[in-house]
Amino acid sequence: MPLWLLFTIAFLALAFGAVATVGYFTTIVLKTLVSGTAYIDAAFQAGIIAILLLIVIGSLFFALVRIVVRPIRRLTNAVQAFSEHGQMIPVLTSSYTPIEITQLVGSFSTLAASVEAVHRRDTEVSRVKSDFISTAAHQLRTPLTGIRWSLEALQKSQLNQEQMALIASANDKIKDLVAIVSTLLDISSIESGKYRYTFVAVDVPALLTEIVNDFMPAATQRKVALSIDPMQPLPPMRADRERIKWVLNNLVDNAINYTPEGGTVRLIAEASAGRILIRVRDTGIGISQQDRNNIFERFYRAPNAIAKQNAGNGLGLYIARTIAKDHGGDLNFAANDHGPGTTFALSVPVEISRSR
Ligand code: ADP
Repeated sequence: MPLWLLFTIAFLALAFGAVATVGYFTTIVLKTLVSGTAYIDAAFQAGIIAILLLIVIGSLFFALVRIVVRPIRRLTNAVQAFSEHGQMIPVLTSSYTPIEITQLVGSFSTLAASVEAVHRRDTEVSRVKSDFISTAAHQLRTPLTGIRWSLEALQKSQLNQEQMALIASANDKIKDLVAIVSTLLDISSIESGKYRYTFVAVDVPALLTEIVNDFMPAATQRKVALSIDPMQPLPPMRADRERIKWVLNNLVDNAINYTPEGGTVRLIAEASAGRILIRVRDTGIGISQQDRNNIFERFYRAPNAIAKQNAGNGLGLYIARTIAKDHGGDLNFAANDHGPGTTFALSVPVEISRSR
């Protein structure tokens, strides 16, 4: 119930109670003092004076309510605007505003100003970090590419078997380093908002088949059964095909890497509430309670994952979730209801024009 209504009800109840009581006693007193029926006229006059008084007191009361309610309403609007847009709008008070409300407005303005300052500092720190990562990654890429070319040239020369093996291994490590540098460059362009997407209608079964075909050799080598569950006809999703494929590649790659021999990785797709939901369900090592809040953090790797698979940089899920959100979708996970393992769920909006 709004404050003004509460005040009004209280005022009316008090006023009518007071008028009725005073009127009743006035009539009794007048009856004893004034002879005959003349007391009725006297009571009538007293009644008119009471009503006039009531109007004057009522007007004063409403003015008071305005003085209290107005700044509270402005403060409420300012708090709402601050929580929605992070921007403080000034709350005007006057010299009539009660001191407690002026103090409340002052405290809120101070709080909002310090939250804004912390937010600005965080944004600045994050920008400096992104710039640093981007510069460092750019600086690393050129010499790494040079080393890679040199190694590839060396591989073509006359070498004994041991030298060949050493160079092949160095070449693999350089490839990993180049991949890490590209990931770092991706992150810095994501964070600086330079990541550009080309949204098109993407056929889901075709994409999933492509991914499963790409990963089948790795899955077979690790003795993990990789498959797509039978699916209903699906509308296309609205996605940047390359980027969303990158996200799914990451999920499938993780699922295969973190699933022991004899396990399964299943891709399950369905349409629901204007979205395509793609689940990647594995029977792997799972994600412990302590790690659940961290695995989407940059560079985070759970201890069980490090023990199972030494390689990895903890950046894939961070980028994958950012890409999903940039599509207007999301990426989440849950422990499987039955048996070991995890299910990651990617949701992406369907392509409206084609799905109608
Ligand atoms: P990476 O796999 O290179 O370590 P990611 O960002 O892809 O980096 O994943 C972050 C962490 O999330 C992993 O190190 C692992 O701890 C956990 N994780 C991801 N996928 C799975 C999975 N399918 N099963 C268990 N843990 C997983």
